[in-house]
Amino acid sequence: MLNIVLFGPPGAGKGTQAEMLLEKYQLVHLSTGDILRREIATQTPLGLEAKKAMDKGELVSDQVVIGMIEAKIDANSKARGFIFDGFPRTTAQAIALTTMLQKKDASISAMLALYVDDEELIKRLLLRGKDSGRADDQNRAVIENRIKVYNKETAPVIDYYDQLNKYQAIDGVGSIDEIFSRLCTAIDQIK
Ligand code: AMP
Repeated sequence: MLNIVLFGPPGAGKGTQAEMLLEKYQLVHLSTGDILRREIATQTPLGLEAKKAMDKGELVSDQVVIGMIEAKIDANSKARGFIFDGFPRTTAQAIALTTMLQKKDASISAMLALYVDDEELIKRLLLRGKDSGRADDQNRAVIENRIKVYNKETAPVIDYYDQLNKYQAIDGVGSIDEIFSRLCTAIDQIK
């Protein structure tokens, strides 16, 4: 299996790149943000509860997102591999992911972390907010909180994968195609 954690702060381009990578490498894309937004759209109890945290730019509880990912991994038992986008966002989630994959005799092949400076992130997210209508992309204070939460709670996940020798930094500034080609070069080296 080829299992990639596509990592980076909000606005780093994870979703865009994941869509391109899944086609090239025939992987299943698992985005916890997308799954949560579908839960909100269909007004499930889980979605309505998660929305409270998402509207503030805070993280949804580990227990909820771990359960969601586990269900998706189980539902895709024939997958050649997964691209994890927006997950894991805490070290507890990373540890849970290792355990889930171990049950399938699998592991994370690489954690590719996109680097983009904060001003560029804010610019990209405000632009995306105009097009996508995502509420959490339209408010500068919420965006800044998401970046703060990323630095405090999510960035330590880098250390977890670095200790496993799975971490690679990727420059996330440039054209979509340039960044895609950097990611492909990194993936082709680990295959
Ligand atoms: P995203 O689409 O990845 O930017 O996620 C949007 C929002 O969903 C985040 O700001 C969090 O509130 C929530 N979320 C997505 N993934 C996770 C996760 N792995 N852990 C906790 N909260 C998450």
